[in-house]
Amino acid sequence: MEIDETVQLRSVRKTYGPPERMVTALDGVTAAFRAGTFTAVMGPSGSGKSTLLHCAAGLDRPTEGQVVIDGADLGELDETGLTLLRRERVGFVFQAFNLVSALTAEQNVSLPLRLAGRGPSPAQTRAALDEVGLADRLEHRPSQLSGGQQQRVAIARALITRPAVVFADEPTGALDTKASRQVLDLLRGLVDRQGQTVIMVTHDPLAAARADRVLFLADGRVVEEFAREVSAAAVAARMANLEAAAC
Ligand code: ADP
Ligand code: MG
Repeated sequence: MEIDETVQLRSVRKTYGPPERMVTALDGVTAAFRAGTFTAVMGPSGSGKSTLLHCAAGLDRPTEGQVVIDGADLGELDETGLTLLRRERVGFVFQAFNLVSALTAEQNVSLPLRLAGRGPSPAQTRAALDEVGLADRLEHRPSQLSGGQQQRVAIARALITRPAVVFADEPTGALDTKASRQVLDLLRGLVDRQGQTVIMVTHDPLAAARADRVLFLADGRVVEEFAREVSAAAVAARMANLEAAAC
């Protein structure tokens, strides 16, 4: 196995529902994500982007095929092993932030490690919030923060365990242009400065253009890949093409 590939999917299939009404969400996806790279995943609605992310992150089990994260074959882990891997090695950022509204930013960020039974030190939590530019918002609850700030708290929460990979499902989907750019700057900076591996689903060609590589999905398959010098115009053109084909 290539050690520098943080996440690998091999012939991953995922179906939902009973045989007579089976939906094939992923139809044999093989993809590798190198350590320290930023990958965007695009595709028409229903093409399997979220399913891909959930299977790759161990939030869901594939029907067939193999997923390897940081050297661990997820198919060989029992539920406890999978829970531990998700908690310790994987960070996940959702479109809707998914913060606990009753908790402060500091408490939201420390939650995953507290659940893991090794509560982070206040200094560790503060460092994580400092990293996303919110060192002065420790005591704020989600309702006292803007959308962009809430998403940055969610990113700090995803980073607190120093995960091998951060998955983000449309992390800028609920944000305005300025907040989106801040979140993308932040993700890009994590990759460039810390060698973080990031895999992000997005609808936005401008967001995809910040990545090192763009995978295009259609009908549960990877149909194209753009690498290096990804331009927003080229991404938009390819997406328009796929959306038209999906109609
Ligand atoms: P995307 O994120 O690209 O919009 P999804 O991965 O959410 O696509 O969905 C891919 C396909 O799988 C769609 O046809 C969707 O309806 C179906 N699907 C996703 N999740 C489920 C589920 N839990 N049960 C049944 N069908 C599902
Ligand atoms: Mg989706």
